[in-house]
Amino acid sequence: MSNTPITVAHGDGIGPEIMDATLHILKEAGARLDIETIEIGEKVYNSGNTAGIAPESWESLRRTQVFLKAPITTPQGGGFKSLNVTVRKSLGMYANIRPCVSYHPFVKTKNPVMDVVIVRENEEDTYGGIEHRQTDMVEQCLKLISRPGCEKIVRYAFEYAKKNNRKKVTCFVKDNIMKQTDGLFAKVFKEIAPDYPDITAEDWIVDIGAAKLVDTPENFDVIVMPNLYGDILSDVTAQMTGSVGLAGSANIGEAVSMFEAIHGSAPRRAGQNKANPSGLFLGAMMMLVHIGQQDIATLAHNAWLKTIEDGIHTYDIARDGTTKETVGTKEFGEAVAKRLGQKPETLKAVEYKAVVESGETAKPLYNQPIQAQKDLVGVDVFVHWWNGKFFGAADELGPLVEKVNGDGVKLVMISSRGTKVYPGGQSDTFCVDHWRCRFMSETDGGTLTKQQVIDLLSRFDEAGLDFIKTEHLYNFDGKAGYALGQGQ
Ligand code: NAD
Repeated sequence: MSNTPITVAHGDGIGPEIMDATLHILKEAGARLDIETIEIGEKVYNSGNTAGIAPESWESLRRTQVFLKAPITTPQGGGFKSLNVTVRKSLGMYANIRPCVSYHPFVKTKNPVMDVVIVRENEEDTYGGIEHRQTDMVEQCLKLISRPGCEKIVRYAFEYAKKNNRKKVTCFVKDNIMKQTDGLFAKVFKEIAPDYPDITAEDWIVDIGAAKLVDTPENFDVIVMPNLYGDILSDVTAQMTGSVGLAGSANIGEAVSMFEAIHGSAPRRAGQNKANPSGLFLGAMMMLVHIGQQDIATLAHNAWLKTIEDGIHTYDIARDGTTKETVGTKEFGEAVAKRLGQKPETLKAVEYKAVVESGETAKPLYNQPIQAQKDLVGVDVFVHWWNGKFFGAADELGPLVEKVNGDGVKLVMISSRGTKVYPGGQSDTFCVDHWRCRFMSETDGGTLTKQQVIDLLSRFDEAGLDFIKTEHLYNFDGKAGYALGQGQ
């Protein structure tokens, strides 16, 4: 069988040590790899490259399409971009997969029965970092959720469950509050779930879902969620198994995929031969499965489980009673290599199987958009205005804004951070210097032209009202594509 080319980066801090230990096991296990090494992280940042990765390294990633990456140190201070985010987003790695497994009774954990896989959306949500200061008091972050983005991640979660013989996929969202963005994620989940009749599909509001996950992780299997919740809950879930040092992760793209540990470069532990290489090693197991070397993954992963079971532990998981020998990074790698061919006795052995193609035509990962009839029915004009009062100010602002009514456009509401305050607001609503003024057509159900919006903004300017941004209100095929104000 021919070798698979992969790109490897040894990273910073403990990175080189845990990578050496991981590569040692892969080599001894007979992994069929041709390794290209690239430099990323601190040295590259310090050479004046704010992205932390050199142009020729991109070329290697695009060529091999498989990246085994040790953690790097992101320099403190402005100007440096997170390499992880840059690589994930630039190369379209839309799915972040983190299996979180307990190794009770060999690794101390409060959650002895746990085998959960977090599937986190990786490209959108608030992580676009599209942020603006809008007034003296208010900053904004845009949360963008797209239909193809949801389709990709939800389809991936169900396909992952199917290929890995998982029984249930759970979706976590906050669609009771964010009815449009998280609502779309939940809607797509419900559309795709019926394509997988053998897999149970359930959805939870993220807050209670997270509480249940922490309380009874044994009731969860695969969990799919938007970026922010996934970022937070995948760390929580990894820690619940006993140590973040034990979790590996895969970032899957349509072309290029990246495999890593979930932890960072732990600079204070660097150069001491102490760090646990298991997170990166388990990331490497996902890589072997991804490139079709299930035989090597099964061999190496079982040897690793046997090592943990034999009580050969690095300092981070070493405990009286379960640990027989506390070893260094290198020695741990050697202990795993020595056990190649052995299987765990108490822990469940793994058996990765090559995926047999069913012969059915696979559903597309995402679809072309259906173009709806889009009608402009109103506009939200955001205003920076302040009269020194945190309460009741809208009663003064309302009449000023009403002066710009005309030309078939009228003010229907003013809200402060989403809550309606005019007309007929509550005197107890706390307000700041940021107001959303909603204008609609004077005729019920009527549409507006862009020129009417432009003229409206001109009247704002003439009235000395400081408009800071606008959002168009559209109906899509007659259905409102905007949320009502709270209390509207
Ligand atoms: P960290 O994960 O490096 O360390 C947190 C704690 O966990 C430390 O106490 C550390 O000693 C311990 N730890 C982490 N990995 C361990 C291992 N393999 N074995 C034993 N103990 C381990 O997080 P941090 O200290 O917040 O960040 C350090 C640097 O890593 C920062 O520059 C950060 O930007 C970077 N970072 C990189 C990645 C990545 O490259 N994927 C991810 C997270 C953080």
